[in-house]
Amino acid sequence: MPNEMILIIEDEKNITELVKYNLEQEGFRVLTAAKGRTGLETAQREKPDFIILDLMLPELGGLEICKILRNDPTTKPIPIIMLTAKGTEADKVVGLELGADDYITKPFSPRELVARVKAVLRRSHEKSSEEFLNAGTIELDIAKHELRLKGKPIGATAKEFELLRNLMISKGRVLTREILLEKVWGYENSVNIETRTVDMHITQLRKKLGKEADRIVTVKSVGYRLDGD
Ligand code: CA
Repeated sequence: MPNEMILIIEDEKNITELVKYNLEQEGFRVLTAAKGRTGLETAQREKPDFIILDLMLPELGGLEICKILRNDPTTKPIPIIMLTAKGTEADKVVGLELGADDYITKPFSPRELVARVKAVLRRSHEKSSEEFLNAGTIELDIAKHELRLKGKPIGATAKEFELLRNLMISKGRVLTREILLEKVWGYENSVNIETRTVDMHITQLRKKLGKEADRIVTVKSVGYRLDGD
């Protein structure tokens, strides 16, 4: 994803420089702001593709900026990763509730931050670009929210549809039960949650897919994979 513009709002110069360097190495264009107010103004004016937002900023704090950006329809879709200091657990929760996409705790490795940025961007692209997915004779019409088999609509529950959508987006790659719980059911840190619910839904889904059922492959002790053509 070359040439996407990322705005870093951070008052610690060392961090800004390090993150900027690493992002530019990956082909991103980078804007920076060292104060809350200018950061917000830059975001509103430039409409960057992504914002890395420090929590503790002079003039205007990260949470406040996040809230303002999320309440404005023109900046609402911009993905945000928040930078937080250790021991601000409550702020992280508030940040995510205010609509930040992810957070990373200082000190962090720039490589990890770049990886997170890419992951969040990938997810937001997936959300916006897909309208129609297919594998063999299975078709998912995202706009109509319709599952079709050989062109014929098949009734699927909302969860079955979401499960299949996630598997199709990641065609050929295994998704763990935990990831599916997170993406389809919205559970976070789902390690301790009963994962059998995923298995049950997969069983139902396979029944509906008839001859195409085998495309959903069980990867032992890991999760599921959907095979394409
Ligand atoms: Ca700071």
